[in-house]
Amino acid sequence: MPMDSTGQLSYEDMRDWIRHFAGDIAENKQYLTDLDSAIGDADHGINMDRGFQAAMPRVEALPGDDIGVLFKTVGSTLISTVGGASGPLYGTLFLQFGIATTGHPSVSLTEWMAGLDASIAGIQRLGKAEPGDKTMLDTLMPARDALKQALADGTPPGGALDRAVAAAEAGMKATIPLVARRGRASYLGERSAGHQDPGATSSYLLLKAAADAWSAPA
Ligand code: ADP
Ligand code: MG
Repeated sequence: MPMDSTGQLSYEDMRDWIRHFAGDIAENKQYLTDLDSAIGDADHGINMDRGFQAAMPRVEALPGDDIGVLFKTVGSTLISTVGGASGPLYGTLFLQFGIATTGHPSVSLTEWMAGLDASIAGIQRLGKAEPGDKTMLDTLMPARDALKQALADGTPPGGALDRAVAAAEAGMKATIPLVARRGRASYLGERSAGHQDPGATSSYLLLKAAADAWSAPA
């Protein structure tokens, strides 16, 4: 559903976001895995796809009235089905989103941003990464900051989300020259520079999926 001028998002909008992301992960499974083969162990796309293949049937079976339950279902499934670092990290992202939206049948874009804030905090508590460490946070943090700034400036919801996606894309690309300081890629030291981070790339897809799911049909 296109997001209206009030930026109110329904349960269906949140489910559509997750459906879009699951589809984008499936489509980009090989690409994400190829990125991970350069600086990791060639499994990021496989990991993410395994998690979402397990999560989607559970999501589709939910009663559809509590956004918190939707996100917690995704988070707990990722944690229990994905072996790599991305399982607990993305699992935490969605669990924190779920905690922030517990009991809500709909959320405003501002509340959604608060969910993103909580997710970032959870990922940092778990993985101890900082901005510039060449991780998914290098996409998520600039996206969150751009969204916060856009909403504070009074940008309409659709435009604010577009600004967040643009910042996410720039953050993802900015991981290319970075030397990894967290995760498997950090074992490569200086040799990790010159490659785009796979987790930063899947996190860009996550933000882009929201904009795609909530934009007006062409
Ligand atoms: P693994 O590294 O266990 O094989 P994946 O390949 O699925 O797991 O995921 C790798 C991605 O996880 C990296 O590209 C990076 O973005 C992210 N990542 C790894 N460690 C951390 C961390 N400590 N904090 C945040 N993100 C991390
Ligand atoms: Mg890997």
